[in-house]
Amino acid sequence: MEFSWTNEQLALRHSVIQFARAELNRDLVEHEANEEFSWDGWRKSAQFGIHGLPIPKEYGGRGADILTTVCALEAMGYACRDNGLIFSINAHMWSSEIPFLMFGDEEQKNRYLPKLTSGEFVGIHAMTEPAAGSDAFSLRSRAERKGDRYIINGSKTFITNAPIADVVIVFANLDPAKGARGITAFIVDKGTSGFNISRKLHKMGLRTSPMAELAFVDCEVPLENVLGKEGAGTAIFTASMEWERICILASEIGTMQRLIESCVRFALDRKRSGGEYSSFSSKIADMEIRLETARLVLYQAAWLKSLGKHPLREAAICKAYVAEACVQTCLDAIQIYGTSLNDCQIERELRDAIAGKIYSGTTEIQKTIIAGLHGL
Ligand SMILES: Cc1cc2nc3c(=O)[nH]c(=O)nc-3n(C[C@H](O)[C@H](O)[C@H](O)COP(=O)(O)OP(=O)(O)OC[C@H]3O[C@@H](n4cnc5c(N)ncnc54)[C@H](O)[C@@H]3O)c2cc1C
Repeated sequence: MEFSWTNEQLALRHSVIQFARAELNRDLVEHEANEEFSWDGWRKSAQFGIHGLPIPKEYGGRGADILTTVCALEAMGYACRDNGLIFSINAHMWSSEIPFLMFGDEEQKNRYLPKLTSGEFVGIHAMTEPAAGSDAFSLRSRAERKGDRYIINGSKTFITNAPIADVVIVFANLDPAKGARGITAFIVDKGTSGFNISRKLHKMGLRTSPMAELAFVDCEVPLENVLGKEGAGTAIFTASMEWERICILASEIGTMQRLIESCVRFALDRKRSGGEYSSFSSKIADMEIRLETARLVLYQAAWLKSLGKHPLREAAICKAYVAEACVQTCLDAIQIYGTSLNDCQIERELRDAIAGKIYSGTTEIQKTIIAGLHGL
């Protein structure tokens, strides 16, 4: 086993930290209070190469392997405190770029990927519906083939980046009699008639990442707007979830490290000034145990994926463990800071972290997957 990063990976990590510290934290408190998305941070991150990390160079990406990608994303979480911006970039990468890369034909890849990696386009995927969340494949959105077009009808909710999206991958059932095998992914461009953002949504955390509901009312798209092929929706969704569950919380590992360092500084200050600090030691040790365990489960899942495997179990463990570890780390940090909390914005970190237990499959769903592999 090899546990060290290469010199190139360490150099990338260092440059991401320098970049994110210098460029991505401006006006965060105001942005958060006003639920403002940072276009400046989005464009600069794209120019730096974050958006295109795992995408081949021929489509404008960096062509990084998955371990290098999570190494860079961990550095983003360490140095950038705008968790909403990082989340929006992650959603764009895993639910839009990856499905285009894996399932798009050459024309679709050339049409969308360079614009997605450069940040000119914002990509989203729309799966969740008011009555289909964890049980995603029970979706009610329908598509019908009429001549040379598909007509899509349905509504979607909790869709990240929807208010700013240029292209949507929307999942609808083309043949309900086939159940999940009828689910198909359609590409819908902004401005397509019958496709509307029906309502902007507000969240307790990740407030700098915009979210909305979508409505499709007799929305017509040409036959070439199917991604993959008819009935491939579940395979597309499952493949992008595999990437997402491994990579989307890499930044939270950086966040955890930042919080630990901050708590250690606070505890040492207390110690120097003769105040109470002894109760902090065990909490800080617990935070560190969680951080290192989180790193191991993330790197193992990414390593297995880099070997071309489909680490269903490890991806589920990674998603469940890192999400819960980050929430607990935020709670411990809050306990350590006590009433000094307001100065250091840890309550925002907690509100941001809680969503990690829900998106990309809740913690309960990850546990169902893990237990299911034992036949339970
Ligand atoms: C910040 C954020 C961003 C999101 N972005 C997107 C997006 O871009 N695109 C998109 O399509 N969706 C998105 N979602 C939606 C997300 O995928 C769903 O919220 C998630 O799948 C859970 O669905 P639900 O909210 O309807 O909860 P429900 O499925 O109703 O679950 C409610 C509770 O019941 C539990 N539960 C449900 N079923 C089971 C079961 N079988 N076994 C055990 N427990 C169960 C859940 O764990 C949870 O605790 C986002 C959500 C959030 C919070």
